[in-house]
Amino acid sequence: MSKFLLKCITCGKEFSEEEEEYYCPVCGERRGTLEVVYDFDQVREKYESSSVDLNNRGIWAFDFLLPFENCTDTPRLFVGNTPLYRNHFLEEKYKVSELLLKDDGRNPTASFKDRASGVAVLKAKEKSFDTVFCASTGNAASSLSGFAAVSGLKSVIFVPATAPAAKITQLQVYGSKILAINASYDRVFDLSMEIGMSKGWYCRNSAINPYLLEGKKTCAMEIAFKTKDRLPDFVFVSAGDGTVLSSFYKGFEDLMKLGVISKIPTIVGVQAEGSNAIMRAYERGYPFEPVDIEARTVADSISVGKPRDVFKACRYTQKHNGLFLSVSDGEILGSIIELARETGVFAEPAGATAFAGFKKARRLSIVNERNSVVIVVTGNGLKDLKSVSYVLPKVETLSPVKDAIEEALNEDQLHTKQ
Ligand SMILES: *Cc1c(COP(=O)(O)O)cnc(C)c1O
Ligand SMILES: [Zn+2]
Repeated sequence: MSKFLLKCITCGKEFSEEEEEYYCPVCGERRGTLEVVYDFDQVREKYESSSVDLNNRGIWAFDFLLPFENCTDTPRLFVGNTPLYRNHFLEEKYKVSELLLKDDGRNPTASFKDRASGVAVLKAKEKSFDTVFCASTGNAASSLSGFAAVSGLKSVIFVPATAPAAKITQLQVYGSKILAINASYDRVFDLSMEIGMSKGWYCRNSAINPYLLEGKKTCAMEIAFKTKDRLPDFVFVSAGDGTVLSSFYKGFEDLMKLGVISKIPTIVGVQAEGSNAIMRAYERGYPFEPVDIEARTVADSISVGKPRDVFKACRYTQKHNGLFLSVSDGEILGSIIELARETGVFAEPAGATAFAGFKKARRLSIVNERNSVVIVVTGNGLKDLKSVSYVLPKVETLSPVKDAIEEALNEDQLHTKQ
């Protein structure tokens, strides 16, 4: 018997891996997202004979809960087991019992997306594809690009031409075929589906490919394994399409079914004010009819007006009493600087969004002083230097004269914490 099935999140119909690749043919691309459902007898047997060696294996240490019979020949790029830092400065400043920062910008291509790309390329190889494609605001693209490179696959990447320069350069360096299109991410996504599918390439698009979420859920599982009987009360994570957010629920749920943990933290999906389509759908209540919008935010990675995993994200949030918050671009940019100065972790805008959401939740007393929190930083700050530079002063050029340099030193405070 197979280790898992794919289940439609709307009609509940189950498919074997061979029957359907991407989504339920009855419910369609967006409502018919498939979710991987495991046979827990098999999972338990594998888990009990496994040592969960995160240090040496990263995400593959969770092979018992990944959609492969055998995780052999995994890509030779280390993914996962990212640091979980405790930060006393922020604990004191915001008065919470424990504050942990999960730095997922430490993954090989510098974002959380590597967790999904590792799984996607292994699947593509298992299914004997030679070309993979995706549409992305930038990180999924550069991530797939790097993993395709190490796996010997060709990659075709559809991105909005407005993606940050560093992310596009990353694609060029890795040798992908780049299609930088003069349109929003939402439009680029639709075009990629039309073209990529007709070419018969393997699709690594959010929500369409059911295996991505399985890779992404390893972040929640790492948090659970590292905090064990002291699971945090809250987890804050940013949301665009909603797959990353859903993956936290799935990761904790799967571990609960396995009996590793006994509760699920309250998960807060944080969106940018100008790109809060999931939050809007959630506020309308079941069945969460999406209200697609024109997304506008400095946080390019979560600039999504037509979220592809809106149904799953809303259902999970309702089932587990989670919540959504939105924050302004000003709050996001300020949070990048504050996070860097208090913790040394430099986040890209979407990465700092979770921290901005935490601060708002604390202000609103959603989080209280007895609570412990984990804040997930999903991407590294070097990916987008331009956005944050707008809120920083220009660096003054000095003459190579001692007096001029000392004068500049006098004017400056050495520490400019916010
Ligand atoms: C993709 C991404 C997100 C959000 O993920 P979704 O699945 O689109 O909600 C958040 N932060 C960063 C840095 C990302 O790259
Ligand atoms: Zn269906």
